[in-house]
Amino acid sequence: MESPERPAPSSMDALSRRSDFLENILQTCPEGIIANDNAGNIFLYNASAERIFGYPPQDVIGKMDASRLYPPGGAREVREYLYSEKYGGRGRLVDFETEVVRSDGKLVPIRLCCAPVMEGNREAGMIGFFTDITERKAMLNRFLESEERFRGIFESAYDAIVSIGKDGKVLMANGAAHELLAYPAGGLAGVEASGLFPPRFEGYWKELVLYASRMAEDRAHKSIEITVLPRTGAEKPVQMTLAEKDNRNGKTLTAVLRDISDRKALEEELRIQAITDALTELYNRRHFLTLAQNEVERWRRTRAAFSILLVDVDHFKRYNDRFGHAEGDKVLKALGDEIRNGFRTMDTGFRYGGEEFLVLLPETDGASALHPAERLRTRFSRREFLPDPEGRPRRVTLSIGIAEYREGDSIDDMVRSADRAMYAAKNGGRNRVAGIPETPAENADPRN
Ligand code: GH3
Ligand code: MG
Ligand code: MG
Repeated sequence: MESPERPAPSSMDALSRRSDFLENILQTCPEGIIANDNAGNIFLYNASAERIFGYPPQDVIGKMDASRLYPPGGAREVREYLYSEKYGGRGRLVDFETEVVRSDGKLVPIRLCCAPVMEGNREAGMIGFFTDITERKAMLNRFLESEERFRGIFESAYDAIVSIGKDGKVLMANGAAHELLAYPAGGLAGVEASGLFPPRFEGYWKELVLYASRMAEDRAHKSIEITVLPRTGAEKPVQMTLAEKDNRNGKTLTAVLRDISDRKALEEELRIQAITDALTELYNRRHFLTLAQNEVERWRRTRAAFSILLVDVDHFKRYNDRFGHAEGDKVLKALGDEIRNGFRTMDTGFRYGGEEFLVLLPETDGASALHPAERLRTRFSRREFLPDPEGRPRRVTLSIGIAEYREGDSIDDMVRSADRAMYAAKNGGRNRVAGIPETPAENADPRN
């Protein structure tokens, strides 16, 4: 193709070809092009301008004042900006967004580039390039709307939502996340995500990130329980789902965290309840079986002797019959307190059932168990109860049987031997401790 700038030898022909070429550009240009002289008369108006404004060229060229293309005051504003430093410098207007008026009176958002038309050194008018940005504006509005809607959901979510970038730092987090992790609004952005968990979870977190990355294609969202470390330092259990997603800016991880402190506390409460006796607040028979079994396993590993005491209240039926069940309960509660407070911290007391109690003594052989058993018996026998306030204080005694773990015994076997020893104590006159057969039982204090 021939360049229009190159001077042609046969000039009339070339000039006319050049003028056709420029006309062609003008008419096919996707931007509306409008030029006017200093008086405002429009002398250039291309096809795209017609598309934007709706007037046929014959109604515009030489007939219309350029200011009519703008809403009232609009043309003046354009001129002012053209001669200001804003939007492209003095004498130029670049990417200025404004509105123009179409032939049907409707306003059209446009982007405008504008410059004076020069004749030598003299400004002879103005030329403007108009781009209709209706579609772009609508798209932007739709985007902003959906962004707003998404924000609304994101911010009002009960769960904490944290989005994490490829560098492992928080990109974005909602209000619930800031609250959960004790950060001020917006404070989570840029924070290292692995630091939101206690240091002991560092390796686990890395594994989870890898796992989420491998699972991304399968859309398998696994929910796990983990602990977060809020800025306060007080750890919180959470239920977390972690998912990786590919988006425009690379992969991002989204963690959804739900505080499960309440559920965990309730679970713990239920667990404690399930192994605790309500009246005495000692552990119950079920928990005895668990802890005693642990001791048997320890015995197998280390041969560390351990013993149990079976404690039974003497003539308790008589006490109940005489003073009532409620007064009997007070005795059982007192015995619970005595057991809880009267042994080493490593020893554990249980209400085995009714008025029978067990004490588990780790690292204690049968002979060594005599001493704490005897101490319990004497201390308890010195307690005074006032079942009928007018009467004299009453004392209650205990019979205690000891059993040491023997190789091959089951827990039941061990309890049975303690029971036999306890009955030996009863038969021996009550208020006494009886040991395993080869351990001589200590005699009771005959004063009670
Ligand atoms: P012994 O000296 O031979 O042990 O006589 P005892 O009367 O203590 O033995 P027995 O087994 O005949 O009676 C146990 C009593 O313990 C009967 C029962 O009513 C009472 N008892 C069991 N559980 C409770 C309880 O939770 N509260 C009260 N107040 N009494 C209970
Ligand atoms: Mg009994
Ligand atoms: Mg009894």
